[in-house]
Amino acid sequence: MYKHTFHRHKTRVVQVGGLAIGGDNPIIVQSMTTPDTSNVAAVLAEIHRLEEAGCELVRVTVPKAEDAAVLGEIKRRIKIPLICDIHFDYKMALAALDHPIDKIRINPGNLGGMDRFRIVLKKAKDKGIPMRIGVNAGSLEREFAMKYGYPCPPAMVDSALRYIEIAESEGYHDMIVSLKSSDVLTAVEAYRLYAKQANYPTHIGITEAGKAPYAVTKSACGLAPLLLDGIGDTIRISLLGDPVPEIAAAFDILQATQRRVRRPEIIACPTCGRLEIDLEKIIAELEQRLAGRTTAIKISVLGCVVNGPGEAREADLGIAAGGGKGMIFKRGEKLYTIPESEMVDCLMKEIEIWEAEERAAGRLTTGGVTFTTDAHEDEHEECCEDDAKGKIGLPLLK
Ligand code: SF4
Repeated sequence: MYKHTFHRHKTRVVQVGGLAIGGDNPIIVQSMTTPDTSNVAAVLAEIHRLEEAGCELVRVTVPKAEDAAVLGEIKRRIKIPLICDIHFDYKMALAALDHPIDKIRINPGNLGGMDRFRIVLKKAKDKGIPMRIGVNAGSLEREFAMKYGYPCPPAMVDSALRYIEIAESEGYHDMIVSLKSSDVLTAVEAYRLYAKQANYPTHIGITEAGKAPYAVTKSACGLAPLLLDGIGDTIRISLLGDPVPEIAAAFDILQATQRRVRRPEIIACPTCGRLEIDLEKIIAELEQRLAGRTTAIKISVLGCVVNGPGEAREADLGIAAGGGKGMIFKRGEKLYTIPESEMVDCLMKEIEIWEAEERAAGRLTTGGVTFTTDAHEDEHEECCEDDAKGKIGLPLLK
């Protein structure tokens, strides 16, 4: 059977609280809170909703001393690692680092000079706190934008590499890098360019994507090419307003690109005039009965014989319907025919048998497993050795 090849951008691993980010670890889904951070009750309520939705890493903004003052309390009352987002005032970064936070996010270009960046780096290093270097096309340092005439992908990457060099010169390596733009083409090109030259993990996203549903489509257009290239270690879908829907959108993109499969994949046709069963009703019932299941299984249910048998053969389990009946397929083989009224019950029974068989064979994957690279371990070691020597210009995307 044809097997897709996949190479992941070889990144070093950065520990953020209890999460390992980069390397072969799962791509982590994150979001950011919307209330004033000093309003602890509102921030906690939002983080708890995000946690409930599956968010794995959360960021709060820290623009004033009152926000820094409540970081300890927020951290104590949430389950997921906490990131502090700093812009302009390096003193806020220093204040945030006095609290038990898990990561800090800064744009070194808007701190008012590299001396201030170095001060923040030294404190983050002393405290053992990782940092996201957040380069953004909309706030690129003048020096880099001027070199190319405008904030293009090479300018963004030059800027990121310069900040990395400065951090490394301070002996600091716990970095995650983002190169965001609200322009899909700019973001994709910037991340691709970066991945050829450095091996710090990336946080990927299309910034200021706007309002759903267009914002989700736009984010998917930008993130899918990167994810399929193996780029991206954490992900955020930026949606206007309530951040909770960002989580489902992020997991959907990871699922569709097969970068992190957390639930059964249902393949259903759009229906047309040839339809011979009530497919919408069947899929709705199937989705309901599969809710909460985390098995990575492909289930195909198509409405007629045009594509039904072909899709059913390609799926782990499938039904090719026709004339109010359906032929059940498992791993490409025909099993038996059932009436339309028994299709969902029958699929549920066959899913359980399939799971038991896969488990017995040691192949069952559940709960958001991610892929691993098919590059060799020794390549990884080689890359890490070079990195330890301070080389960042490595051809990492193989
Ligand atoms: S599988 Fe059949 S019913 Fe479904 S869209 Fe295709 S032709 Fe139409």
